[in-house]
Amino acid sequence: MARIIDRYGRRLTYVRISVTDRCNFRCRYCMPPSGIRWVPHEAILSYEEILGLCGVLEELGIEKIRFTGGEPLVRKGFVDFLYRLRERHPQLQVAVTTNGSLLKKWAHRLADLSLTALNISLDTISKDKFFYITRGGNLEEVISGIDAFRSHSDAPIKVNAVLIKDFNDNEEDISAIITFASSRKAIPRFIEFMPLDGDVWSCGRFISADNMIEVLRAMGYTRLFDEEGQNSGPAMYLQNPFTGQRVGIIAAVSRHFCSRCNRLRVTAMGEMRSCLFADSGVNLKEPLSSGDFEEVRNRIMECVAAKPQSWMGLKTSSQHMSQIGG
Ligand code: SAM
Ligand code: SF4
Repeated sequence: MARIIDRYGRRLTYVRISVTDRCNFRCRYCMPPSGIRWVPHEAILSYEEILGLCGVLEELGIEKIRFTGGEPLVRKGFVDFLYRLRERHPQLQVAVTTNGSLLKKWAHRLADLSLTALNISLDTISKDKFFYITRGGNLEEVISGIDAFRSHSDAPIKVNAVLIKDFNDNEEDISAIITFASSRKAIPRFIEFMPLDGDVWSCGRFISADNMIEVLRAMGYTRLFDEEGQNSGPAMYLQNPFTGQRVGIIAAVSRHFCSRCNRLRVTAMGEMRSCLFADSGVNLKEPLSSGDFEEVRNRIMECVAAKPQSWMGLKTSSQHMSQIGG
């Protein structure tokens, strides 16, 4: 079996592919109120091109692919595409990250796909705060989507909340998210806000993993451990020794996990990036559209060769997370 190992000895097994830069929300930390200038449809990877890419990735030893966006469920044909992928590449682990707003409609079909994981972004379970942070999102739609998916599937669900100073970093909000997630057999995870683009939200709203641990310890989550498993993410977990409840923390900024990074990213336009914080990558759309898979392979390896040891010191991307594929 082929393996991709970078020049720092990290084995890369995980790729995040953005299927669209478009989204029906305008989360305050992710997008400006007016949205971003959408990429024209013909400039984004077609599903056929993504299928071709997944074939090359699997040959190269990639084991897990996560589809994200923008909001993947706003792209027409996304769930049908996942079925085609499953059929062609049954061995690949497939995961999806979604804001959950359209989940109810697709829950049944998604449940039948045996996803490795479904990650749902949910920063608060207060209806008003949710409306505020997403600039117009409806919390009830997301909750009914999660419920519909859960009623059809036992697949692992993670509820991811970006913690933002003076918005949802208090014990009451944190505890409400944990209670909600556990009531749906989901794992709650708290994510450090990444100031990717200064225009969107200032660094002053940043809450560090250390702050999160302090709050969670005070709430009884005292046992700390790292996520286990080859394709597991960069989360560390705290557990309440009495209830067994686990809570994840993703410290992408303060304790960057670069030495264990096993991932590559592909933007909706087909640019592969070796690091979330890199401001450019290699163009895969061109060889994918002409079916030149040898060249796709070469360009992927070029991207791997350029993977930095750490994002520290990189000139960070001027794009929002919705464009890069969070
Ligand atoms: N629309 C989908 C969603 O919200 O789950 C998928 C794409 S979204 C860009 C993926 C994840 O990135 C979400 O969990 C979101 O909260 C997170 N995200 C976006 N901007 C972020 C930022 N500046 N810092 C930390 N997380 C961010
Ligand atoms: Fe859309 Fe997800 Fe960004 Fe929110 S975080 S604006 S849901 S892409």
